[in-house]
Amino acid sequence: MQNAECLFCRIIRREVPGEFVYEDNEVLAFKDIYPLAPVHLLVVPRIHIQSLNEAAPEHEKLLGQMLLVAKRLAAEFGVAETGYRLVTNMGSDGGQVVGHLHFHLLGGKALGTKIG
Ligand code: 5GP
Ligand code: ZN
Repeated sequence: MQNAECLFCRIIRREVPGEFVYEDNEVLAFKDIYPLAPVHLLVVPRIHIQSLNEAAPEHEKLLGQMLLVAKRLAAEFGVAETGYRLVTNMGSDGGQVVGHLHFHLLGGKALGTKIG
C-alpha cells in the first residue's frame, strides 16, 4: 500500500516533516516546500499510486475524492473566487519529479494562460 522509499509516503508516515492542511482516511494535503504561488498545496492519496498512469478503475472514488478535497481547500485558502490551477504532472515529459500521484493546487496570483 505504501512505498518505503517514496518521499510522499514518508511525509504521510510523518518520517519527513510536512505542513499538513487536510487529512482523512484516503486523502491528505500539505504545503509544497518550494511554492510557485502564494497558495501551493499538494493533494495526495494515502496509498502509493505512482502517477495517473497507474490509476485503475478501483481508484475511481479516490480520484473523485481528491478533486473534492482540492475544491474544498481552494475555498479554505481563499482562492475559490479568484481562481486557481489544479494540475498533475505525469512522467518525465510531464515534469513529474516525485513518483507519488499528486495534484498541485496553485493560486493567489494570476497564473497566466500558458500551461508550459
Ligand atoms: P512534481 O514535479 O513531481 O509534479 O512535483 C513535486 C513537488 O513536490 C514539487 O513542487 C516540489 O517542490 C515538492 N516537494 C519536493 N520535495 C518536497 C518535500 O520534501 N516536502 C514538500 N512539502 N514538498 C516537496
Ligand atoms: Zn508514495
